[in-house]
Amino acid sequence: SSHTERSMMSLKNKVAIVTGGNSGIGQAIVLELAHRGANIVIDYVAHPEATESLERQVAKLGARSIGVDADVSKLADLRKLIDAAVKSFGRLDIMVNNAGIGRDRAMWRMADQDWKDVLDTNLSGAFYCTREVAPYLRAQEYGKIVNIASVHGLRSEFGLSNYCSSKAGLIGLTRSTAVELGPSNVNVNAVAPGYIRTTRLTEQVPAEILDRVRERSTLGRLGDPQDVAHVVLFL
Ligand code: NDP
Repeated sequence: SSHTERSMMSLKNKVAIVTGGNSGIGQAIVLELAHRGANIVIDYVAHPEATESLERQVAKLGARSIGVDADVSKLADLRKLIDAAVKSFGRLDIMVNNAGIGRDRAMWRMADQDWKDVLDTNLSGAFYCTREVAPYLRAQEYGKIVNIASVHGLRSEFGLSNYCSSKAGLIGLTRSTAVELGPSNVNVNAVAPGYIRTTRLTEQVPAEILDRVRERSTLGRLGDPQDVAHVVLFL
């Protein structure tokens, strides 16, 4: 049945960019897209070896991918990223704004840079990516944009003022761009995951917080990157 399901959801000849695609949730999204036969651009910023190993996994699944080193908070990098997608694969259909960081700290101790880095990456990065891909998607009257927000865009915990602001902003950006791009048959959606295990981001979260989350969760466990990737594939 998984074969039927996959052929129903084939993404053959579609081209996807996944920012922060070499780790955690992004990596799971890349592998789901590869299963559906999409051509994938894996954007990353600091771990080329992880990206190369993922490219090999994608090839084993019979899909094509390229890794591109591009910082989403830098416009020049993003133009390079989008050019690479169009030059390598000839078109652009799917943009997954997944790159994200945390710099958790009580707000009265939060340095300017902790605030700026998180907003620049998690929110401005997604805005720049959306703005730069919009002309391609509008011209072909087809496209899918998925933004990886967080439950922390909807509620908060201690030490997350920068992160919560960025994710609440990302949800607002999603709503605005959905309204503006909808008439061109471009869908924009956000996913707001709870705590997801096995990612580098979650490794920085204190164990007692993760224990409390696990206790409160209906499944008695944290989510898996695949859980999020399945929702992204649907969207
Ligand atoms: P990871 O830390 O495992 O991966 C982060 C990815 O983002 C890496 O690929 C990293 O690249 C990339 N990245 C970081 N900064 C930049 C930048 N400036 N430009 C381009 N790429 C960048 O994170 P997760 O998989 O946990 O998180 C992915 C997304 O999911 C984030 O937006 C996060 O906020 C969100 N999220 C995560 C949750 C969780 O519990 N883990 C819960 C809810 C939402 P490199 O490897 O090269 O450094």
